[in-house]
Amino acid sequence: MITSKELEEAQKRTAEMLKKAGIVITDEEVKKIAAADLGLSHLEKEGAQILTFLETDRVAFKIIALFPNQTMPEHWHPPVGDDPGKEETIRVISGPLFFFIPGDENIREGFIPEGKEAYYTVRHELVMNPGDQITVEPGKVHWFQSGIEGAVLYSISSTARDILDRFTDPEIVRETVIVD
Ligand code: ZN
Repeated sequence: MITSKELEEAQKRTAEMLKKAGIVITDEEVKKIAAADLGLSHLEKEGAQILTFLETDRVAFKIIALFPNQTMPEHWHPPVGDDPGKEETIRVISGPLFFFIPGDENIREGFIPEGKEAYYTVRHELVMNPGDQITVEPGKVHWFQSGIEGAVLYSISSTARDILDRFTDPEIVRETVIVD
């Protein structure tokens, strides 16, 4: 849950980050920036700011901003009916971004959010800088985190059904509740 004031502040802050990263958005789009706190009510620690540029039945194009040291929790994109699940490409615009996938544990730059050790199970770290990109196959577990500079990234994917994303942390709910 976040307050409408928190949402507005997050939108403003995100717009500034995008501007700094050289990405032009309209005033209308600023108001469409979502602050996904994932029901954890500590947006600064775990969550992400997301602006959807395009979403059709086939493709989605979004921009994701992470405040400094903010973590998008571990999740995967499950199959839906005949669809094998969302295939997602992340391209870093400003960073670095620490991206975690299954493999040898080698965390150096990133960190596991305090008290959440059980919910961050894949710990192979990729340090991604501006211009780096990665394609995550459907169903593959992943999470990502910014450093002290924050991060801005593009997410280009097959149809996004964010509401169906699965998270390791059982306390997470994908829908953001906004209160006054
Ligand atoms: Zn994902």
